[in-house]
Amino acid sequence: MTNSFDTIVVGLGAMGSATLYQLAKRGVKALGIDHLAPPHYLGSSHGDTRITRQAIGEGDHYTPLSLRSYEIFREMEVQANVSLLQVTGGLMISSLTQPVSVVHVPQFFENTVAAAKRFGIKHDILNAKQMRSRFPQFNVDDDELGYFEYESAYLRPEEIVRVQLKLAASLAATIHTNEHVIGFEENAKGVEVHTNLGRYQAEHLVLSVGPWLTKLLPELQSVFKVYRQVLYWFDIENSYEQFAEAKFPIFIWQLKGEEAGVYGLPAVDGALGGFKIGSSNYLTEPVTPDTVSRTVSHEETDHMFATKVLRCFPLAQRKCIKTAVCLYTVTPDSGFVIDWLPSKLSAQTRSKRIVLCSPCSGHGFKHAAAIGESIAEMLTTGHSRLDLSAFSLGRFVPTN
Ligand SMILES: Cc1cc2nc3c(=O)[nH]c(=O)nc-3n(C[C@H](O)[C@H](O)[C@H](O)COP(=O)(O)OP(=O)(O)OC[C@H]3O[C@@H](n4cnc5c(N)ncnc54)[C@H](O)[C@@H]3O)c2cc1C
Repeated sequence: MTNSFDTIVVGLGAMGSATLYQLAKRGVKALGIDHLAPPHYLGSSHGDTRITRQAIGEGDHYTPLSLRSYEIFREMEVQANVSLLQVTGGLMISSLTQPVSVVHVPQFFENTVAAAKRFGIKHDILNAKQMRSRFPQFNVDDDELGYFEYESAYLRPEEIVRVQLKLAASLAATIHTNEHVIGFEENAKGVEVHTNLGRYQAEHLVLSVGPWLTKLLPELQSVFKVYRQVLYWFDIENSYEQFAEAKFPIFIWQLKGEEAGVYGLPAVDGALGGFKIGSSNYLTEPVTPDTVSRTVSHEETDHMFATKVLRCFPLAQRKCIKTAVCLYTVTPDSGFVIDWLPSKLSAQTRSKRIVLCSPCSGHGFKHAAAIGESIAEMLTTGHSRLDLSAFSLGRFVPTN
């Protein structure tokens, strides 16, 4: 029967395309379905660049995922003959006297340093004077401390999604774009998936629908909240060399006295492309992908420039070259959920039919390649080599 597959992956953004590729690599008969045509700009995986780093301050369990993802991204670069990961080095900055927390990660800076030591990741600790000397573009205060990681890099998110889908297709995965999954039901043989165009049967289902998650699983609305984020590219034409990737590392800056810090990346698209900066927003009301405002107002760009850019990067200009609206899907502890979904057929057991994959909270892209591999391992061998136990759904709702 042509509508029958081993595994169906719903949602082909960063996570779904990585999973489909890894399933296809293992010879699984896989179907990927997306209601748009990824890569696109309506979910969480767009905006030209993403930060990747190796020592992960969000928690011990993330560093192995990041390290493995570096390897897979490099393998994909060779297979597709395209650049996906560009090393720039990375600078994390925190105040010695007034440390502030990344949301739900009170010790982000200290955790990062500890992870670097534990995993032997090459880094330097820099005081303010040393930071000013190495990175004069960064207007650091005397009491600020830097962690510089040599192998931190930026990723090309749209290109990575494109390559993962291309490699999956070349390994015989079936891909349906512009097809909307309306629902799914477990049955004796596995799972039946309903779309606007038909019905499909599979042994396993992976749900990697990013910020659309609670449309398919409204019962999880208390767990997953979606927040509107804005990315800004400010003009650096007059001082391009200072912001070009040869001199400018990716950065995460925990600004003292501020609700939120800033993160950003070098000017990767020439002197006229601007440098990218963002600041995670959890203060406005949660949104949905269907109702969120995709327009960025002048007030927003002016506010970003006045409160953050000017203070941190005095060489940048007020002119905003472009903006993008993107969506974080955030859990109560800002961690990922990668877990079997409890069975609806039997309230007492996990189905081991459906994997829920929601690694966002603003820091998931760097791990996507290893997450795809881990899910493919879960589905083909019953368990993944990397430990995913910290990402259980049971942290938030009863699962058995
Ligand atoms: C502004 C911003 C900055 C970020 N910066 C970083 C960073 O620097 N480093 C980092 O590591 N991470 C970062 N992240 C996080 C990272 O980008 C996300 O973790 C990642 O993109 C999530 O991918 P996803 O596959 O879960 O979601 P998505 O890419 O949104 O994919 C979901 C897919 O599901 C499809 N879909 C939804 N519903 C259906 C349906 N019913 N039927 C069929 N298809 C459906 C959608 O069309 C979409 O293609 C950032 C995120 C944002 C928003």
